[in-house]
Amino acid sequence: MMEHSEIQQLLPAYVDRELGIVDTLAVDRHLETCLACRREIEEQRSAGMRIREKAPYFSAPPALHAQVVTGLPSSRMPRTSPLARRSWWPQTAAALTVALAAALAWGVGEYRMARSPQQILTDELVASHIRSLQVDHLTDLVSSDQHTVKPWFNGKLPFAPPVIDLAAQGYPLIGGRLDYLAGQNVAVLVYRRHRHPINVTIWPGKDLPTRPQMTDRQGYHLVRWSAGGMNFSAVSDLGENELMQFVALLHT
Ligand SMILES: [Zn+2]
Repeated sequence: MMEHSEIQQLLPAYVDRELGIVDTLAVDRHLETCLACRREIEEQRSAGMRIREKAPYFSAPPALHAQVVTGLPSSRMPRTSPLARRSWWPQTAAALTVALAAALAWGVGEYRMARSPQQILTDELVASHIRSLQVDHLTDLVSSDQHTVKPWFNGKLPFAPPVIDLAAQGYPLIGGRLDYLAGQNVAVLVYRRHRHPINVTIWPGKDLPTRPQMTDRQGYHLVRWSAGGMNFSAVSDLGENELMQFVALLHT
């Protein structure tokens, strides 16, 4: 029997119907007795629906449309001439290639539209990191003192994010700020390694894997994990090794 926490990690893939039969059945069985997981599924599904509803509908541009149509073999092609028949095949192949390319482009488009809640979260976290760099809004509070940063969040958030300084280990705390993510207020701690800022976003919950997981998005590395009833995400353009080292320091 799989535990609730294990099942939770399978839910995004379950909603996206990406699980194998064994895991699917395990989730099905678990859902019969677990209200929390059933609610989670509902939320993930409705989030997916909202995305699909809002997704713009792309029609093929006229040039592509014309290309597909003219690439198709003409029905008036003389079928008796061996010469014509020989030239018919490359033409068909060309038409099929165009049609296939169009279908693939559409398929990719569809895939991009139907992002899972986890993918949406990843995109939001990276977007928040990029925004913080662009508008020079890295910190609301500039302080390298954890005893200043921690109380600063008091009263601004319904939870107390863990704040530790890692200056001695080469990752000084720069400050903190508030951000809004996936419908809730979250805490962001800003650290720095040489010239590279690291945005650490913290919000209550245990939705993420307990072992830190790294993904890449738009040239940034993003590491996510849950610990002590909090979800963490660290985003930076630091090298993989240094970022993972930082996460290990934060995690212990
Ligand atoms: Zn459960």
